[in-house]
Amino acid sequence: MGKFDAVGGFSAEVMGMAEEALASCHCQQEGYESIRRVNMRRVLMAFRKAGLSDYQFGGTTGYGYNDSGREAIEEAFAMIAGAESSLVRHQIVSGTHAIALALFGVLRPGGRLLAAFGRPYDTLDGIIHGKDGYGSLGEFGVSYSEVAPDAAGGPDLAGIAEASRSSDAVLIQRSRGYSTRKPLSIDEIGSICRTVKEANPDAVTIVDNCYGEFTDILEPCSAGADLIAGSLIKNPGGGVAPAGGYVAGRAELVERAASRLTAPGLGSYCGPTLGMNRLIAQGLYFAPMITCEAMCSSAFASCFLHQLGHKVDPGPLEDRGDSVVRIEFNDKEELLSFMKAVQSGSPVDAKAVPVPGYMPGYEDDVVMAAGAFIQGSSIELSADAPMRPPYTAYMQGGLSRHQMEMTLMEYAEGALSRRKRL
Ligand SMILES: *Cc1c(COP(=O)(O)O)cnc(C)c1O
Repeated sequence: MGKFDAVGGFSAEVMGMAEEALASCHCQQEGYESIRRVNMRRVLMAFRKAGLSDYQFGGTTGYGYNDSGREAIEEAFAMIAGAESSLVRHQIVSGTHAIALALFGVLRPGGRLLAAFGRPYDTLDGIIHGKDGYGSLGEFGVSYSEVAPDAAGGPDLAGIAEASRSSDAVLIQRSRGYSTRKPLSIDEIGSICRTVKEANPDAVTIVDNCYGEFTDILEPCSAGADLIAGSLIKNPGGGVAPAGGYVAGRAELVERAASRLTAPGLGSYCGPTLGMNRLIAQGLYFAPMITCEAMCSSAFASCFLHQLGHKVDPGPLEDRGDSVVRIEFNDKEELLSFMKAVQSGSPVDAKAVPVPGYMPGYEDDVVMAAGAFIQGSSIELSADAPMRPPYTAYMQGGLSRHQMEMTLMEYAEGALSRRKRL
């Protein structure tokens, strides 16, 4: 009997394809499970050493002084990240906000920021050279340059060394986000950090760690990064943290970022947790498992959609540094039917129908599918696509690999019957 027979509702053809996709990504999924095991151990050891206790889950109000739960979580998070100290707060509204805290904490007027591996994630544009009047780095007199990937698509170490000499901070983006570049491995991040320090020991290395957390057995601080920053509604929130972000790394630099979050002189010592401690701690506990689910979902998606004839990136069995899969469709109708399948396969808002619409910051109309428990959470299965040829969707996340299987199988039923009609 096949794995999908008891599920019901699928044709023999689609069940056969799903079986085949599962068989072909089996080793890759096992690899992600091994990573999950190592990370689970690290999380548990950190909670034990930090002495996390249930009386700490109540949290504080007002100024939030002496919040021993927040302190235990931050101590544990630092150990997990291989860092001296960390700031883990629900008051950080997003990954972009966390990265801004790191950049504004480190850089000063007249300073220079270098992006080490091509153009940073879209939302960083506002931080670096946003509209005047809103206090971007540019407005504060911080200049900016970037080094493109080398011809082979890897980091251009010679170019990074040269540009680091005149830079005060070097931004390194780990995951590929929505670009076509490769994700950076922990080893590659390590060699960029060594290159920067050899060229300029005073330059601070800052890793945009969004989407990279728990995808490998180490985090960038263990490879020499001075600071890392990311979002709690991605991997490290485990699908449970209702909001938040983090900065971790060298203690003095984390305190400088904290002084941006609160105010100079207040730093990390205040910040009421308002009952969030349990959700943030429990999210961190689930994070190795949930990240593994998202990576396994992504591995399955590449194999299954490739079989269905779609061009996918990463391709079947290719390495990945995050759970994003780029999928090409033949036409608009096919793309929209895919988005509908993602939406109707979701646990929340399954009855909503995704329609393309205007989004500020995008040239073309954009269509999005997300039925998430937490607004905008991209560790939950979601997809979005600009409405222009080549019709391409970016899909990411997955709290359960089985939701991904069912979603793609339903899409395949529709796609196959449509192809037979044509
Ligand atoms: C998600 C992400 C960010 C930050 O995005 P937010 O929506 O602000 O959390 C930054 N960089 C990368 C690579 C990301 O994937």
